[in-house]
Amino acid sequence: SDSILTNDKKFVFRSWTEQNKANPMIIAGGNGAYFWDDKGNKYLDFSSQRINLNLGHQHPKMIEAMKTQLDSLTTCAQIFSTEPRTNAAKLIADRTPGDLNKVFFTNAGSDAVEHAVRIAKISTGRSKVLTMHKSYHGATAGSLSLTGDQRRWFSEPGIPGVVRFFGPHLYRSAFHSKNEQEECERAIEHLEEIIKYENPKHIAAILIESIVGSNGVLVPPSGYLQKIRDICDKHGIVMICDEVMSGFGRTGYWFAVDFWDVCPDIITFAKGVNSGYVPLGGVAISEKIAGHFDDEYFPGGGTYYGHPLACSTAVASINIFESDNLLSKVRLDGEEVVYPKLQDIKNNHQCVGEIRGLGLFWVLELVKNRETKEPVVAYGLKKSASCPISEFTKECMRKGVSVLTSGNYLFICPPLIIERHDLLKGLDIIDKVLFGIDF
Ligand code: PMP
Repeated sequence: SDSILTNDKKFVFRSWTEQNKANPMIIAGGNGAYFWDDKGNKYLDFSSQRINLNLGHQHPKMIEAMKTQLDSLTTCAQIFSTEPRTNAAKLIADRTPGDLNKVFFTNAGSDAVEHAVRIAKISTGRSKVLTMHKSYHGATAGSLSLTGDQRRWFSEPGIPGVVRFFGPHLYRSAFHSKNEQEECERAIEHLEEIIKYENPKHIAAILIESIVGSNGVLVPPSGYLQKIRDICDKHGIVMICDEVMSGFGRTGYWFAVDFWDVCPDIITFAKGVNSGYVPLGGVAISEKIAGHFDDEYFPGGGTYYGHPLACSTAVASINIFESDNLLSKVRLDGEEVVYPKLQDIKNNHQCVGEIRGLGLFWVLELVKNRETKEPVVAYGLKKSASCPISEFTKECMRKGVSVLTSGNYLFICPPLIIERHDLLKGLDIIDKVLFGIDF
């Protein structure tokens, strides 16, 4: 294992995704909500490997489905139909809201977002896209330009026509609101101003994460997404909800928009669609927008898009969700276990500024001072030496829980199949470790 780590350091070009890893470690295997390293240390996975592995590690039915597919067809048949691709598209279309009945597969979330935006631009003949500050839409050139997070840009210019707006986020309100309703109203007024200024006739799409994920699980106030729906209807703008992180059961609903009963024109997905067993993403498109391409093909796609192995895992994953009644389990876990326990943790620790979330999609915002809300770490991607938050993640690892932190956010996003006693065990350990850290 020493040579693997040495060669890993020597030959692998690492990116910010590894910035918070507690210590150099090789993941050697896993089962359910646990994984282990090559030395046999076992960890409770409280991040689902970047909010991805919704069915946990090595789910027997997923492995079985993959083996069956490997034995029958692994050819990525771009120019022919395959049974897994058709079946996956139908299962997804049946679960998306409204008439989002056409599914276009991609390799991951970033290219799903890029294709969604191109579909919106081509179908409207317009060029501008509005996206939210603090959003994350991916790491490829286009999806990164659409991302509203300055930490991730250096000096390179992005794609043209992207205009940013502030979303509602009462805890750090850009509008100095006093309550959620006021925050919602002001955020909508602000968006309407921007639309007026940019000229709605030039705006192809409003792209939003239904719940902002990477930048701190920002659950929008009720009414916000519906108001965006109304604005889009008024101006003929395509509403794209990025559900790469929030989709496929993470919130206890197939899609987070279902919680507010809102139907966008396009939904992007990845990660949870097949519980991250092999790369897969995609775009669910309304009949109306798809109809625009009835006479002329959409000029997009990729060599591996709709790969039979990937699609077979989506079919298996969705079927497991249904047979195990996972959506209601996730909703109840969120309401009955996570929320009350996180409230206790907040009461126990001054460094917890706010808790936010839905289902098994939660964040604790860690602050130096509750009054000033100063984050426990500076916002940035500079490679820094040890800081209290990395001490915290290391100590959690030592106590057997693997947590994901980003900036001053501590995510609580275990695999959705986690058992209650493990959920409580992990939350108890986080509570205890927080007592020992001086932020
Ligand atoms: N959109 C959202 C909302 C995401 O959370 C992510 C990944 N964290 C992406 C897009 C990009 O997906 P991928 O990493 O699969 O390219």
